[in-house]
Amino acid sequence: MKFLVTAGPTREPIDPVRFISNRSSGKMGYAVARAASQRGHEVVLVSGPVSVQPVAGVTVVHVETAEEMCAAVRARVEWCDALVMAAAVADWRPARVSGQKMKKDRGSLDLSLEPTPDILRSMATLKGARIFVGFAAETETVVEEATRKLREKNLDLIVANDVSRRDSGFDSENNEVILLARDGSRSDLPLMSKIDVALRIVSWIESRRTS
Ligand code: C5P
Repeated sequence: MKFLVTAGPTREPIDPVRFISNRSSGKMGYAVARAASQRGHEVVLVSGPVSVQPVAGVTVVHVETAEEMCAAVRARVEWCDALVMAAAVADWRPARVSGQKMKKDRGSLDLSLEPTPDILRSMATLKGARIFVGFAAETETVVEEATRKLREKNLDLIVANDVSRRDSGFDSENNEVILLARDGSRSDLPLMSKIDVALRIVSWIESRRTS
């Protein structure tokens, strides 16, 4: 199969030296790319700025902003059989970007933010028979929020995790997730390494493809 995977945060510039971003190490998305490649699939990874080691055999497309990530996904989505959006895309960006470094002696700064494009939603018309997988990093009512996103973003599977926990999620090598599928099925996985979580996601996708 052909896998298109996104990973890492996006950076939304304020001026040439400053940006707003999301917490994300990129480890989960890179693990999905590695797992899919290990299972013999062709993988393209669209990556925001991260310090994770590249994955042998995987083509990486580097992007910075949500807009760039959206364009990189749009250009390749028709090629893929499965899109796995593990990236922590910034939900807002500064409405105006200063061309010059802003001086701090001007005192306090009010930033006006506008929403970035929702990448998964904007791919809806290109979905066809493709399998779309999203992630939901939540701090409360994890299952409810993830279920809402599964429906609103028209996904086949959402990987929900509680990022308020310290032993899983951000920066960790491990993750404890719940897989929620479009057909209502739910699988609560125990705490395991991100590569093992990734292998479970990849095998779920493989089973859908062959069923
Ligand atoms: O940020 P949110 O919780 O809505 O993210 C849920 C899913 O949607 C993730 O898979 C994320 O990669 C994706 N997303 C997106 N475009 C955005 C924000 C999030 O595709 N602008």
